[in-house]
Amino acid sequence: MGKTMEEESLNTERFLIRGARILDPSQGLDQEGDLLVEGGRIAALDREIPVEEGVQVIEARGCWLLPGLVDMHVHLREPGEEWKEDLESGLRAAVAGGFTAVACMPNTRPPNDSPEVTRYILDRAREVGRARVYPVACISRGQEGRELAPFGELREAGAVAVSDDGRPVADSGLMRLALEYARSFDLTVISHAEDPGLSAGGQVNEGPVSARLGVKGIPAEAEAVAVFREVALAALVGYPVHIAHVSTAAAVEILRRARESGLPVTAETAPHYFTLTEEAVLDYNTLAKVNPPLRSEDDRLAIREALSEGLIQVIATDHAPHSPLEKEVEFPAAAFGMIGLETAVPLTLNLVREGVITPLRMAELLSTNPARILGVPGGTLKPGSPADLTLIDPDRVWVVTEEELHSKNKNTPFLGREMRGRAVLTVVGGRIVWPE
Ligand SMILES: [Zn+2]
Repeated sequence: MGKTMEEESLNTERFLIRGARILDPSQGLDQEGDLLVEGGRIAALDREIPVEEGVQVIEARGCWLLPGLVDMHVHLREPGEEWKEDLESGLRAAVAGGFTAVACMPNTRPPNDSPEVTRYILDRAREVGRARVYPVACISRGQEGRELAPFGELREAGAVAVSDDGRPVADSGLMRLALEYARSFDLTVISHAEDPGLSAGGQVNEGPVSARLGVKGIPAEAEAVAVFREVALAALVGYPVHIAHVSTAAAVEILRRARESGLPVTAETAPHYFTLTEEAVLDYNTLAKVNPPLRSEDDRLAIREALSEGLIQVIATDHAPHSPLEKEVEFPAAAFGMIGLETAVPLTLNLVREGVITPLRMAELLSTNPARILGVPGGTLKPGSPADLTLIDPDRVWVVTEEELHSKNKNTPFLGREMRGRAVLTVVGGRIVWPE
C-alpha cells in the first residue's frame, strides 16, 4: 500500500477533534481530550490542544474516539459474486459502520489463491478508496484442501493472511504444512474450525431446535474437535493460529486450556454469537441461518465470559452478504451467512452497557487486537501514526432498516430492531470518509 502512504502525505486536511472520550488500548488511555489530525497523521493528542487558525474543529463531547476499527473477517464477494456485494458497496458499509480497515476472505470466484486475484482486489480497493483492504488468501489451491496455495507469491502480491474460510482444512497434514509455510512468509493463519464429518448436512445447532424444526443439526463438537486440532498443530509447529468465529462453550474451554499452557492461539467471535441464540431460527428465518450456527443460551453466555476474560481477543463481523436469490428460499436451500458491518458497534456497546467489557476492552477487541494479529498498521492513536479514527456516539438511537444499510444486500436478522450507538465519523489516513 506504498502508493496510499504517498497520497496521505499530500493530504492537507487539518482538523481538531475536541472533547472526546479518548480510548486507546495501545497507550492504556481512557480520558477526555483533543486530537489533532494533520497531513494524514495524528499530529497531537492531549487533554487540551489550542486551536490554531485554519484548523477545522469537530466538537465531540459525549462521543468516544477510538483507533480506526479493523474487521478481520469480511466477505466482499469481489471478484465473481458482485450481485451479493462489491468493494464499492462493501467499503461504504464498512466506513458507515466505523471500520477503517477490513480483511477480505478468499472464497470469491475465482478464489483468491493466486497473486493475480490478490492484486486485482488491491487495485480495486485503491480505485474505490474509503477503507483499507487487506486480502486474505487461500490456504489451499481452489480451497479444495489438496495442495497449498503459493504463499510466497501471495504474500508478495499483498496478502496478509491465509484461510480457507467458508470451508475447513480437513487434512491435518496439510494444515500442519500451512502453519510451517505461513511461518516462512510471515502470514497469519486463520482457521475456519469445523469438522466436516460432524457438520455435514447440518442446518442449525444440534439440539432441541434442530429436533423441533426437523432438520439436521451441527453439533458443538464439530467446532470443538477442530479447535482442539488447531491448538495441537500450533503447538507442534510453534506458530500461532487464529480461530475464526468461535460460537461454542466447548471451544472456549479448549481456548482456556491453550492459554493455561501458554500456546500461541488467538480467537475471534462475531456479534451474533454473543447477542442471539438458536431460537432465532425457530420460525425458519433464513436471515438467522449462519455457519457456525447460532447456538444455545449457555454457549452465548460462555462467549460473553470469554470476551470479558480475554480468551477471545477479537470481535469480527463475518459480514456475509447474500441476495434474496440465496435467502428467500426454503430453509434447507438457503445460504449461510448474515451481514454485520453496520451493526457491530451498537451490538458491542451492549456488552459495555451490560458490564461485560469496559470501553477500553471494546477498542482492543475491535481495533488494536485485530491489527496486531493481522500484522498491519493501526490500532493506535499514538502521535505520528496514520490518522485512522472512529468516533462513536454511544447513545445515538436508530433502527435497522433496509434504507439505513449501505450493503448491497440486507440479509440481517436485526432488521427492524432498535440499536443504540453508532459511528458518527470515520477517518482513514486523515480523510473523513464517513459521513460522505
Ligand atoms: Zn468461516
